[in-house]
Amino acid sequence: MIHGKTIEAWKQSHPLIADLVSLKETSWFNPGIAKTSEALADVGLTAEDVSAASARLARFAPYLATVFPDTAVTGGIIESHIAPLEKIRQLLIDEASLTNVGAMWLKADNDLPISGSIKARGGIHEVLKRAEDLALEAGLITLTDDYAKLASDEARAFFSQYKIAVGSTGNLGLSIGIMSAKLGFQVSVHMSSDARQWKKDKLRANGVTVVEHKSDYSVAVEQGRLQAASDPTCYFVDDENSPHLFLGYAVAAERLARQFDKAGIQVSADNPLFVYLPCGVGGGPGGVAFGLKLVFGDAVHCIFAEPTHSPCMLLGVYTGLHDETSVQDFGIDNVTAADGLAVGRPSGFVGKAMQRLIDGYYTVTDEELYRLMVVAYEQDKVKLEPSALAGVSGMVRVLQSPEYLERMGFTPEQLQNATHLVWGTGGSMVPADEFNAYLAKGRSLQARS
Ligand SMILES: *Cc1c(COP(=O)(O)O)cnc(C)c1O
Repeated sequence: MIHGKTIEAWKQSHPLIADLVSLKETSWFNPGIAKTSEALADVGLTAEDVSAASARLARFAPYLATVFPDTAVTGGIIESHIAPLEKIRQLLIDEASLTNVGAMWLKADNDLPISGSIKARGGIHEVLKRAEDLALEAGLITLTDDYAKLASDEARAFFSQYKIAVGSTGNLGLSIGIMSAKLGFQVSVHMSSDARQWKKDKLRANGVTVVEHKSDYSVAVEQGRLQAASDPTCYFVDDENSPHLFLGYAVAAERLARQFDKAGIQVSADNPLFVYLPCGVGGGPGGVAFGLKLVFGDAVHCIFAEPTHSPCMLLGVYTGLHDETSVQDFGIDNVTAADGLAVGRPSGFVGKAMQRLIDGYYTVTDEELYRLMVVAYEQDKVKLEPSALAGVSGMVRVLQSPEYLERMGFTPEQLQNATHLVWGTGGSMVPADEFNAYLAKGRSLQARS
């Protein structure tokens, strides 16, 4: 029984559950979405909160440029570029006989400095927030100081009195671990069984304590939470509920708007923007989507992508159970090559805050992620890890959903003028041997089909 109902009864009341449970690729466009002006109030955070996060990242930019030389070119601002995805776009058009397609672009968070994934946004922002709060309170800095002085031995000695803990499938741990250790914090990363060995090795090489768990992400988070609860000097980064992670992700939108301006990409009712965001627990895609709604309003359409083995956000929003259920409750195993998305229970905060602002959700098989990885790498020359390919299929799902297109009232002209933006959430730091093994797997799947 799941919340008083059998699975059979759930399948009756919510027909897509049958497809989810049988691991079939599924798309769901939520009929319950609302106007941005109305639904933004659901979030409980505001444009001022995002501006404050953005200002904090700007204050820390001189520090980051000092301690991470690969951020010096952007003056210590951690940002990625955008690039057209022409070859993949053509392949998708040919395979699915798509019409009125519009343009397809990549947001290359796979190339973000420091940790090579979208977690370099939210994860690093939260560590910097914690460091700033402590340093301000201790009188180590003022808001108008040059924060580069936090790179001093004195500052590191100060931070070394404090601990940070986090639970992760890998990439959040990488971001929190590297950033915290650089500042001088004692940091523990609780890793789920999905976490790749190279991520653990990299963290240990950076002086981070890695605690390995044989269980999935939810347990790793719980262990981090427990560690912090028993120690007042320990700060827990709560991937399931943290507003500071969420706001760090949201800052992406104002920067994207400037990149679009430069590239001559318009976003308006007649030039709709579709954004495809790979979703694990929901904080990353939720935060980015919140920022995008603040900047582009009803002209942007955010769609979340999950593996068929871990469709936690789709399931949570579709059933209305949010974090009160997990994919495992429905007999889905949460075992996927998309390690960054291997989450069985969604963030209740994100699911409830964002459900009227997210147009839709879909699932992708691991085989499809591998296949698209080969195409992205060989044809469009981008290196993405399996999780980061989930957004690529989004354009096809949208253009093949007549109910959604009609309900939204898109005209063929508007669709031709649309921009489809695939959020490439990670991959540049995957070691060569590991990446070659992924490619070999992708090629063998191609050969078989
Ligand atoms: C973490 C992660 C995501 C999703 O972020 P959530 O906050 O877990 O939803 C997507 N892609 C990659 C590569 C990730 O590491």
